[in-house]
Amino acid sequence: IDEITARLYANETFSTTSRIFDEEMLIAFAPLQADLSDRNLYVVQVFNKETALAAVAALTFMLIAVFSISFAVFAAGLWVLYRSILNKVNDIEISRIKHYYAKPYIIKIKADGRIKWFNRTFRQHLPASLSYKNVLDFDLTTEITEDVMNWIGQQHAFTARFQNIGRVTFIHFISLKTTGGYMLLGDDVTLDENRKDYYRTLALVHPLTELPNRNSLKWDLRIILADKDEFRRYALVAVHIAGLSKNSIGFNESVFNQTIKSTRDVLNQTLKGYDATLYHTESETFAVLIKDLGDYLQTKAWVDQTLFRFKKAIIVDANIFNIDLKLGVFEIVPENYAYLSEETCYDNMMLALNHAKQSGSINVMTYDVRMSQYATYEQVMEDDLAKAIRNDEFEMYFQPQYHFIDQRIVSFEALIRWKHPKYIQESPMTYIRLAEQNNMIIDIGKIALEKSFAVARELADEDIKISINVSPLQIVQVGFVNDLMDSFNQFGLKKHSISIEITESFLMASFDQVIPKLKALQDFGIDIHLDDFGTGYSSLQYLSELPINIIKIDKSFLVNLMTDHHKRAIVQMVSNLAKNLQIEVIVEGIEDERQMQYVIKSGCQIGQGFHISPAVPFEEAKALIKLYNKDKAPLKGLKSKSGR
Ligand code: C2E
Ligand code: MG
Ligand code: MG
Repeated sequence: IDEITARLYANETFSTTSRIFDEEMLIAFAPLQADLSDRNLYVVQVFNKETALAAVAALTFMLIAVFSISFAVFAAGLWVLYRSILNKVNDIEISRIKHYYAKPYIIKIKADGRIKWFNRTFRQHLPASLSYKNVLDFDLTTEITEDVMNWIGQQHAFTARFQNIGRVTFIHFISLKTTGGYMLLGDDVTLDENRKDYYRTLALVHPLTELPNRNSLKWDLRIILADKDEFRRYALVAVHIAGLSKNSIGFNESVFNQTIKSTRDVLNQTLKGYDATLYHTESETFAVLIKDLGDYLQTKAWVDQTLFRFKKAIIVDANIFNIDLKLGVFEIVPENYAYLSEETCYDNMMLALNHAKQSGSINVMTYDVRMSQYATYEQVMEDDLAKAIRNDEFEMYFQPQYHFIDQRIVSFEALIRWKHPKYIQESPMTYIRLAEQNNMIIDIGKIALEKSFAVARELADEDIKISINVSPLQIVQVGFVNDLMDSFNQFGLKKHSISIEITESFLMASFDQVIPKLKALQDFGIDIHLDDFGTGYSSLQYLSELPINIIKIDKSFLVNLMTDHHKRAIVQMVSNLAKNLQIEVIVEGIEDERQMQYVIKSGCQIGQGFHISPAVPFEEAKALIKLYNKDKAPLKGLKSKSGR
């Protein structure tokens, strides 16, 4: 009791045991906190000791049980975790080993492109590439326009080229995103790439000469024209070997090839010192692109030099070849960059070349804008011309040639007209030249001759001649002279009622071939007029030896005759010379009175021109004969003979 009392006063919490009613009891004391009272209160609980201990034991057991179970579960969890981590680690290890030994090329990179790791395939097959520290160092063959890491980030594929000792390997990579970077999986595509390379080569190089080909030229032109910062002048020249055909007799493939190669070599020599590229664009055609030529004169200098070089024969397999070149020039000038494409440049060059090819005597043609309009117009005209021959669309007009002293029309020049609404205004120069290119001139010439002969017969009683223009191509035909004489006879024409006009330039060019024919015609009674005198190469000293009855001073001498004293001097000189040689002169193109007066004063007796009359249909020509020859009407500006 004392002990309990002392502890109560000490305000302790405690328990004690005591036998109460023969039973062992547990008494527990717990003070109550009383703030508002000065009395101390205690809660006293009395338990049967046995029952209390049993309860505590049960509680303890329960706590232990709960703890043990929790621990067991936790431990099991840990163990499972451990197992799975272990498995994972194994997996990773195995996959690493697999990757390492795997066939594909595998590279792991960080997000910035730094190389972290690569597999054995990479290490073994591309030892020279081990120096790479970053994918940015790779030599990519895929065209990637954006940032490379962006490209990889979007998991796009790309191909890289690895230079190994003596070998090039192409690896095609795909990228997979991994934590903190990418894994690049690559396949060896060297075979494909080489094939592509081969095809690319085939597409850009001519197999025979190994020069860049037409595709290359167009590619280069595209790049030049696209460069907006650097406008430069270029000369684009097509160089064609004329008359060299694989089908030529005795000309085998190897000689052909060798000739082409020799031509290539000579062309290369001509380009020394120029900033130029030589292309082999077609079987017998090369192209030269020369950079930075100051002006056309410089282009011309190269062209002349090249033509000169090819004057020397080429010797191939003991055969000697005279290479005849045809050149087509197109100048790419900065002002035109905006309008040009690689196609137009190429086409213009070829168009110029085609014009040169079509011409017998001209070796070089330079493209000018008119050619392109001309070409298409020409093609249409050529078709129409063939129809015109069949449909008899040609008519002859007649332009009087007036004798100033006798004051009468002494002859008419027959000039062809195409009675087609589209071509009635077209100068015969245009379609006659076209007809000469495709040989239709033979048919057209025949038509012109027969229609003119018919008119000559109608004028048989008038003492008037008809002069007919004849194309060089007609004259060189075998049988031309006989055919002409035959039809002359068939029409029952009088001697000297017909003359033919041939151009000076043609006569001088084919002297030996043509002179005998002209002599024969002259002896037969057909006069010869030398047309367009003064426009070509004139050798006055030969005139006396030529079978010529009349010289026709070209109408170009009449242009500005009154202001150009050179022209006046020439007209005067030709007139004097002709008088000495006893050759008559007709002056063409007299358009006004003053010109006529000068012509008369210089001693020329016959004139032709708009001042007298343009070329007119036959019915009107007859009216002119009546007016001037029968009614003796004076020509405007000419005093009438009777008035003298
Ligand atoms: P050409 O033989 O020199 O003919 C003279 C040309 O000058 C004609 O042109 C004529 O109309 C023109 N002319 C006449 N007077 C004057 C004038 O006062 N001033 C000017 N500026 N010109 C004048 P056209 O009829 O246009 O014929 C042009 C050329 O076509 C001829 O030149 C000739 O070379 C050729 N040609 C015409 N008809 C034939 C033909 O039937 N056969 C052949 N092969 N060629 C022909
Ligand atoms: Mg004429
Ligand atoms: Mg003429």
